[in-house]
Amino acid sequence: MRRLLLSSFILALLVVGGALWYFYGNLRVNIDIPPSADKLAAEENIHLQIKPNKRPPLGKLEILLVQGNKTLTLYKGNIKCADTDILVKTKEAGFKNGEAQIVAYLELPFKREKIFQKEVYIDTVPPTISVLEKPRRLVIGEPGVVAVKTSPDTADIYVQLGEAKFKLLSTENGTYKTVITAPLFLLKSPANYFIVATDEAGNTAKVYLPIAIKPKKFRTVKIELTKEKLEEIVLKYFSSPDNLVEKFTQINTLFRAEDEEYIREICSNSEARLMAEKAFLQLPGSAPTAFYGDHRYYYYNGKLIGESVHKGIDLAKYRHAPVVAANNGRVIFTGRLKIYGNTVIIDHGFGVFTLYGHLNDFTVSEGEYVKKGQLIGHTDTTGLALGDHLHFGVLIWGYAANPLFFFDGYYLHYYFYNPLKKTFP
Ligand SMILES: [Zn+2]
Repeated sequence: MRRLLLSSFILALLVVGGALWYFYGNLRVNIDIPPSADKLAAEENIHLQIKPNKRPPLGKLEILLVQGNKTLTLYKGNIKCADTDILVKTKEAGFKNGEAQIVAYLELPFKREKIFQKEVYIDTVPPTISVLEKPRRLVIGEPGVVAVKTSPDTADIYVQLGEAKFKLLSTENGTYKTVITAPLFLLKSPANYFIVATDEAGNTAKVYLPIAIKPKKFRTVKIELTKEKLEEIVLKYFSSPDNLVEKFTQINTLFRAEDEEYIREICSNSEARLMAEKAFLQLPGSAPTAFYGDHRYYYYNGKLIGESVHKGIDLAKYRHAPVVAANNGRVIFTGRLKIYGNTVIIDHGFGVFTLYGHLNDFTVSEGEYVKKGQLIGHTDTTGLALGDHLHFGVLIWGYAANPLFFFDGYYLHYYFYNPLKKTFP
């Protein structure tokens, strides 16, 4: 009898133990918190992934942010699959700058087990920004130099002006420099300059950059299009000359906008050194036929059918005239754009680019360093051009500046080269 009791007891123990083992024994919870959460800002989205391989009836999972005695619960609940973002306000929760851990505990009826630990660093302080150099005022189309210093953990820094971003590039002694401009869009949508800096943890600082914008009155140009001219334009893009006005509108608005977006993309990387020197060359022997800021109104049969704002200077010489690099730099683009036709774009450093449009051919290739005055191609009428000419543009991080400032060596010396070359302790 005693023997029977004992074996029943052992059997019961085995059954209960087996059930417990079945439910909890082979429970595994994989927790994944990506490396982007290694540095936590004042406010941080932590991406959390939980993957249990069994779904037990009981038990809880608790994930905490721990710094000394301070804890903050990131997750508490059933052990189930999760793939979620958790907004953690470290600063508001009272965490200090320094090391911390993300720790996960598995709570079962009979035990609490630490199953995950990740070392993190809390940084709640946004970068400090001190402005070393900036223009006091800018006329529309004028270039300006900005230099700033920030705290060493700065990861990304730029000058913001409405939709425009002018990247600040890292130079000597932890100084960041760039060239900005007051683009033509300011005439329609005014905006203010700000410096925006983000550190490695993701804290962002934004400071107002006081620069007065001086509006400028540009020319109004009326362009009368004959049927022949309109057909000539339309046949450059379409196979048949029907619906002339609709097709012209598509070329002048849609294709133009596509070019501008593409140009901004091309001009989004620049060398953090100045390659240009002295005045930029105006195509030798050429005469300007259109200027920066010209507001063009297109008429057909006495009716207004479109408008555009000219983002460079048109220089005419003779058919297939040689085109030279306006200054030293690196060719970053040779190819066909919709409005500008065959185009060369040269990077001169710190976000300053020159664009040569409506070309016949290229005599340089992408990646090549060129010298001021070096042959890069020949003029033509490719793209939206009626007569043979060079469209010459100066772009600051993709935004058109007035080339006349760049032809003026005296102006450049005082307002462009000197501030760009200035070194700060
Ligand atoms: Zn032009």
